[in-house]
Amino acid sequence: PLARDLSIDDLAQRIRTGDRATLARAITLVESRKAEHQEKAHQLVQALLPATGRALRVGITGVPGVGKSTTIDQLGANLTASGKRVAVLAVDPSSTRTGGSILGDKTRMQRLAVDPNAFIRPSPSSGTLGGVAAKTRETMLLCEAAGFDVILVETVGVGQSETTVADMVDFFLVLMLPGAGDELQGIKKGVLEIADMIAVNKSDGDNNVRARSAASEYRAALHIMAPKSPSWTPPVVLISGLANLGLDEMWAQVETHRAKLEATGEFGRRRQDQQVKWMWSMLEDRLMQALRTRPAIRDRLEVLESGVRDGSVAASVAVDEIARAFGV
Ligand code: GDP
Repeated sequence: PLARDLSIDDLAQRIRTGDRATLARAITLVESRKAEHQEKAHQLVQALLPATGRALRVGITGVPGVGKSTTIDQLGANLTASGKRVAVLAVDPSSTRTGGSILGDKTRMQRLAVDPNAFIRPSPSSGTLGGVAAKTRETMLLCEAAGFDVILVETVGVGQSETTVADMVDFFLVLMLPGAGDELQGIKKGVLEIADMIAVNKSDGDNNVRARSAASEYRAALHIMAPKSPSWTPPVVLISGLANLGLDEMWAQVETHRAKLEATGEFGRRRQDQQVKWMWSMLEDRLMQALRTRPAIRDRLEVLESGVRDGSVAASVAVDEIARAFGV
């Protein structure tokens, strides 16, 4: 049966037993643009809320070609081999432009694609970053209710997508390439500020020397930055996703981070703050959408905007008129 034909209770119950087909259909419901589907999806998330929260949520970013799919495939395989269930999700706002998602594509993660303890879901491809991220968050909760222990959320460094993903995970991992100097200059400073760990990938074979020097440059760069957490200094590690080198040590750091932040209460506080921030950002999106589409406002916006642009209308006067038309 399709998710929309099942009751909320049925859906919730099936998902809690780990039924993958129902999970996939429920995610389709989450991703639907139809208002009635959305409402049902929201109720489903609410019904499943008590069964969520146990998974470790890890964001992974890096430029195209850094080795995200290779590394996630190998890391995921290592995790399922150790008895964990792993879900791989993606936030790729650019996927709307190409009409199909480039992230989460099953052919890129061949081991996980056939692993019964792994679940791969490509990025939702609808509209704004905020919209895409909201759907990924809900999908993450459904996966947790279905019993996945680890949720990996992949993103490429497009616009604000890294910050958005960092705001929905417990740990944010940044993959870098060997090659120091010029590499360091090319990266956004912002991404170092939100990193909980940097992993220099492709640290195999001839790359090893360059990887080491890149690692020391990143350590130096992180050293001069204000720490994100008082109880955690982001480590810089060397890995090879392709050769499966350093991945176990890397994962051990993720678990150490959790243990340390749980001990101080920071882990739970971060999640609480993320939830509240999410509520406000959804509310802002919803209100702006309502405002922009209200007929009386929609027709005036262009005129007011060009008046503000050419200086004939004061910005504050335009706001007064729009707000009055919106009833506030
Ligand atoms: P993504 O675009 O970040 O998902 O990168 P991919 O995982 O598709 O990897 C891009 C290319 O780098 C592929 O040709 C991979 O085989 C190669 N690659 C990925 N990880 C490693 C690594 O650890 N070592 C080496 N030598 N090559 C790698």
